[in-house]
Amino acid sequence: MKSDLKPRDNGLKAKAKARLALAAPAWTAPSKWEYAPAPEAHDYIKLRPRYGLFVGGKWTKPKAGRYFPSINPATEETLTEVAEASEADIAKAVAAARTAYDKYWRKMSGVERAKYVYRIARAITERSREFAVLETMDGGKPIKESRDIDIPLAAAHFFYYAGWADKLKWAFPNTDPRPLGVAGQIIPWNFPVLMAAWKIAPAIACGNTVVLKPAETTPLSALLLAEVIEQADLPPGVVNIITGGGQTGAALVSADGLDKVAFTGSTEVGKQIARECAKTKRRVTLELGGKAANIIFDDAPLDQAVEGIINGIFFNQGHVCCAGSRLLVQESVHDAVAQKLYRRMQTLRLGNPLDKNTDIGAINSKVQLDKIEALAATGDAEGCARFQTECALPSRGYWFRPTFFTGVALSHRIAQEEIFGPVLSVLTFRTPEEAVEKANNTPYGLSAGVWTDKGSKNFKVVRQLEAGVVWANTFNKFDPSSPFGGYKESGFGREGGVHGLLPYLEI
Ligand code: NDP
Repeated sequence: MKSDLKPRDNGLKAKAKARLALAAPAWTAPSKWEYAPAPEAHDYIKLRPRYGLFVGGKWTKPKAGRYFPSINPATEETLTEVAEASEADIAKAVAAARTAYDKYWRKMSGVERAKYVYRIARAITERSREFAVLETMDGGKPIKESRDIDIPLAAAHFFYYAGWADKLKWAFPNTDPRPLGVAGQIIPWNFPVLMAAWKIAPAIACGNTVVLKPAETTPLSALLLAEVIEQADLPPGVVNIITGGGQTGAALVSADGLDKVAFTGSTEVGKQIARECAKTKRRVTLELGGKAANIIFDDAPLDQAVEGIINGIFFNQGHVCCAGSRLLVQESVHDAVAQKLYRRMQTLRLGNPLDKNTDIGAINSKVQLDKIEALAATGDAEGCARFQTECALPSRGYWFRPTFFTGVALSHRIAQEEIFGPVLSVLTFRTPEEAVEKANNTPYGLSAGVWTDKGSKNFKVVRQLEAGVVWANTFNKFDPSSPFGGYKESGFGREGGVHGLLPYLEI
């Protein structure tokens, strides 16, 4: 990760900083409008001292007897211990899923399956506050995001796919859609329960059974989901949840008896999974990394665009595969946009993720913080000018100030590599053609954004962007009825919408 480039400063950094500083004085002083603390209660969250694996509808101990801690990244405190599943545990989980598939699930009518999926959706809604608090404690994201976005969207996915369970023949007319069988599903740490919903809801609505592995740093909301699945009285083995690190994930991918593998995570691991699955006849869908361009034309409503930039890169501390991490600004409005962005950034409140006023929470893990710091340092070394919020950082936990770099060229590492943190690279363009050329100049193709007052320009540019999702005059908007997925090294297959049924059906 270390760059061998020597820091260089040809005066551009100083000039860039001076230009922006002119506009900032009123905002850089400590705010007189301090917010009173508004911490969300969390004393009712009763975690068990240790969690086992949820296999065949029962909580079981891991065969090898190994456990690992789950840590609150905002405090570095251990919340609880979680089982590490071995190959033997995985084999048991896959066998339980197979039995459930053959015995109950594939024989059940869509109407009956839908009732169970609805029950899960309703139980998530009923326990939404508990889910939100746990998600924030385990992952570091601000409570207002887990409360208002992650959990409602997770419930909405179950509601949405419950609706499809008895209508598959209408989704794909003149066909006889059938489930695939047993799916192995692996999810990352950035939206733990939401990703679990994206994976489990369409799979079981279509009649498949699943073995799901959450990420090592954020297993707790998936384990709470296991409790909800018990509460919903799902037939044993339809959903199995196993915990562990990368090795457990790799063992799940190569386990005998799977018909399908669905993965969300890094492109590097996605490629390993594609190689492994190429040896078998199991189906695969991959939702991988991104380096989205957020394009601001000079005729865009700049204040709204700045809100879109903030939401695009600082939402969930930038731990978002579709984050708008490359800002492409038309040259004539570069300084105006950078100044407005700098000012707006100073109003972001960083700190205790459980405080309802917090905008920027903790970085998910020490490993991720090290990665962000190392990649941001390459921006300095390659001569870009760094701008950050001037807030104080808490003394414990993992934190990184919201940051943007100006003077970034396409060849710089911060313009090419996914940082997966609150770091924005600002590039410029002169013509729409140049904007499209630069936007598509990346191995990724997950998402993009376009900001302009002209509808015709918007449609023209959007059609030329190589990205699975393109937002027009907005960013980071999600809906269960809307498909999501990538091109190029961002993966293949779609999640969400009617398209999200296809990866789980034989048609
Ligand atoms: P990984 O791809 O390493 O992890 C994603 C999931 O896969 C986790 O559950 C992980 O387990 C598991 N896993 C790890 N190695 C293997 C393997 N060899 N076979 C099967 N499963 C495996 O991503 P990270 O979470 O480590 O993040 C690294 C980078 O990935 C980020 O910086 C970001 O660039 C990208 N990323 C992209 C995401 C997206 O939504 N597209 C989401 C998360 C990360 P465990 O976590 O327990 O090791």
